[in-house]
Amino acid sequence: MADSDRPTWANSDRPSWADDLPRAAAILRRAQRVAVLTGAGISAESGVPTFRASDGLWEGHRIEDVATPRGFARDPRLVWRFYNARRANLRGVQPNPAHYALVELERRLPGDHFTLATQNVDTLHTLAGSQRVLELHGNIRRVRCSRCDYRADRQLEPLPDLPECPECGALLRPDIVWFYEPLPEAVWETAYLAVSQCDCLLVVGTSAVVHPAAGLIELAKHHDAAVIEVNLDQTAASHLADVSLLGKAGQILPQLVAASA
Ligand code: NAD
Ligand code: ZN
Repeated sequence: MADSDRPTWANSDRPSWADDLPRAAAILRRAQRVAVLTGAGISAESGVPTFRASDGLWEGHRIEDVATPRGFARDPRLVWRFYNARRANLRGVQPNPAHYALVELERRLPGDHFTLATQNVDTLHTLAGSQRVLELHGNIRRVRCSRCDYRADRQLEPLPDLPECPECGALLRPDIVWFYEPLPEAVWETAYLAVSQCDCLLVVGTSAVVHPAAGLIELAKHHDAAVIEVNLDQTAASHLADVSLLGKAGQILPQLVAASA
């Protein structure tokens, strides 16, 4: 990057990540195959709450109650109220500059040389225009039957507290992956392969504690890929990162992608 292209900051508001940006940009520029792993933090600036709050609650609920198969079996009404509230919260939510920066990065790389694996269920990457999105944990717009093979995209329309399957009458559930559930096999295998083959893994806005998704970061290191982390704070994966850019994804990613062009 030419000196004239460098972002300029008044000394007082120069963010700490600005010093590390050129190193990360150089890694990204050299990479022929790029994989990206995103988490809730990339959607935070769009107004979607992240969830690893220090009190262990997710919007006031215990994770065991609203995001496990046991919680659903015990009290499906509570679980559906929780997801219906999250679906309602997503109405009017827009992707932010971090999502758009990843669209730009994908445009630069040929076909399968770019893979975006997300733990988010909010569909904001797709809304932004990303093409190769692997939804590791499903998608909150979709429902599926708890008994038969029925699946449907219900967008963000309000659903009843106990929605029924139109095919067999059993209870529908959100088509997302809860804790203790396996990831969709084909999606996971595609992500695993892409990360095994990439030269650079960009990890954005994830606390890196939810497995197996977080294991993709170790997998990248194991295959000698460089890891660039973008997060507000240090995470469980920071020790694996070649460069950690600490700050807001919506500010850092557009600069990183531009600087690596
Ligand atoms: P997490 O909530 O555990 O961690 C969020 C991370 O993002 C934290 O490390 C935090 O420091 C960082 N962060 C917050 N704001 C940021 C910003 N502006 N820029 C950069 N980083 C920022 O999320 P996770 O690691 O994705 O794991 C949580 C699990 O919860 C996943 O299974 C996911 O499916 C689910 N979840 C999804 C959504 C969503 O779809 N948007 C929201 C909450 C939780
Ligand atoms: Zn059914």
